[in-house]
Amino acid sequence: MTLYSSSRLYDVVIAGAGPVGLFLACELALAKLDVLVLERADSPVTPLKAPPLGTRGLSVATGEALHRRGLLDDVLAAAATGAPRKAQAGHFAGIGIDAAKIDPSRWTYRLPNPASTNFAADMGSVESVLAARAIALGVDVRRGLPVTGLDDRGEEVMVGAGTAAFRARWLVGCDGGRSTVRKLAGFAFEGTEPQFTAYYALVDMAEPSPLRPGRNATPSGFYMNQPGQIAIADFDGSAFDRAKAITVEHLQTVLRRVSATDVTLSAVRLATSFTDRARLATTYRKGRVLLAGDAAHIHSALGGQGLNTGLGDAMNLGWKLAAVIRRTAPADLLDTYQAERHPVGQWVLDWTRAQVAVMRPDPHARAVERIVRDLVDTPDGATYFTERLWGVSLQYDLGGGHPLVGRSVPDFAFDDGSRLACHLRHGAGVLVDFGDPASLQRSIAPWADRIRYVALRAQNELGLTAVLVRPDGFVAWASDEMPAAGAVERAATAWFGPAGSVLR
Ligand SMILES: Cc1cc2nc3c(=O)[nH]c(=O)nc-3n(C[C@H](O)[C@H](O)[C@H](O)COP(=O)(O)OP(=O)(O)OC[C@H]3O[C@@H](n4cnc5c(N)ncnc54)[C@H](O)[C@@H]3O)c2cc1C
Repeated sequence: MTLYSSSRLYDVVIAGAGPVGLFLACELALAKLDVLVLERADSPVTPLKAPPLGTRGLSVATGEALHRRGLLDDVLAAAATGAPRKAQAGHFAGIGIDAAKIDPSRWTYRLPNPASTNFAADMGSVESVLAARAIALGVDVRRGLPVTGLDDRGEEVMVGAGTAAFRARWLVGCDGGRSTVRKLAGFAFEGTEPQFTAYYALVDMAEPSPLRPGRNATPSGFYMNQPGQIAIADFDGSAFDRAKAITVEHLQTVLRRVSATDVTLSAVRLATSFTDRARLATTYRKGRVLLAGDAAHIHSALGGQGLNTGLGDAMNLGWKLAAVIRRTAPADLLDTYQAERHPVGQWVLDWTRAQVAVMRPDPHARAVERIVRDLVDTPDGATYFTERLWGVSLQYDLGGGHPLVGRSVPDFAFDDGSRLACHLRHGAGVLVDFGDPASLQRSIAPWADRIRYVALRAQNELGLTAVLVRPDGFVAWASDEMPAAGAVERAATAWFGPAGSVLR
């Protein structure tokens, strides 16, 4: 690369100041790394990030991640969404899930907490809160500077951005579904071709409108009709050239065909389109280049999973990459990013594909849809779909042990008024000791720089005596009994590196 380059060596350069890139930047900066974010767009503000088109359904898993970093209240306030959605827990293939039918008593290791249900927030608000936090933590965010080249030299990566170049120990592509980083680094990106083009638009419609209100499956597709808004899934084999503008004439033609009505649109005020193309990077890491968010996985927006999955990637990757860079953990800790998050990406693709299969405009799919609708309407069905949509069923395969291992830690309400999430705020691990008497402080002392020791009683301890929590809030080790000698030390070594590692 024959470019001007500064001599400064960043720990991490992140391509893309979308929500995933910014959240990852916050995670890395929390660990005091030197982070540069390069963003293609000049301005973070676009109408497509504002409500309603920019509104995203955020899951319990996302709410918990934000809560654990003290960001949930800021996001809720910025998005001004008020109380979390209550009536509907989410939807599958356009079928709403009745929140009243969910049976949360089946979620053994969950405690009520500020992130107990899904909620909505617009992209603009999420990004502005994350950008403010990143900048406050010292992240260098440069806009109007797209990543255009990279050269992985083994010990470091040269990252080209127009005529400038930057040195980084690691480069993370968080640059969205058409990721330049993914293409430049040569990641394989495999999956299935799309069956539909979907449109989401703010429109003016001639009255009276022949369209039925709400969500409607039709013989040639699907449409959702709300005052001033229209969403359409047109099973055209993704024939529409999405580089073209979405004109009134085009949208009206599609809507007439899909709705089988003579509806008249008088204006399209704002419109976006997407397809159900579903692809996944076969690996999330190549040398010193990593992928997260839409850069690693694309799929349709059905069921609202993309942002949640991307933020989950960032929360999983951040502390691991930081520990490897700071040499407190062995380099193979990074392998667990692939091992844990790639199956989640694969699952999300299949979850959206299943919805496409149910929504297809043919008699077979209509027959399946009627059955799914009946199932969703039962307590078993509502609970099943909700725990997947909300990320509540997520359990990483960390090699067995206690049933809580690999799950999101319960948000214990401690007797001093704090919650477990408060103790995770600084990005370190936490050992909760409910033992009587508390006995593990000495065992964990050699990891005091990486693991906080909390010996408090909680209102509901769920029968546990001790829990070791990773910085991302997932349980590394747990016990219901007097812990066996050396057990907590072994778990701490596995996830936080050898006792007394020297920081760089
Ligand atoms: C209509 C619609 C509804 C949706 N609803 C939901 C929902 O309810 N819930 C949900 O979880 N998800 C939803 N999604 C998906 C969600 O919006 C995405 O998954 C999410 O935005 C991905 O975040 P990201 O940061 O990975 O990528 P992006 O948001 O795409 O951000 C990528 C950033 O990288 C920048 N960039 C691109 N190229 C470069 C480059 N070469 N160099 C530097 N910067 C670059 C871009 O400008 C952008 O700022 C929806 C999507 C759509 C379209």
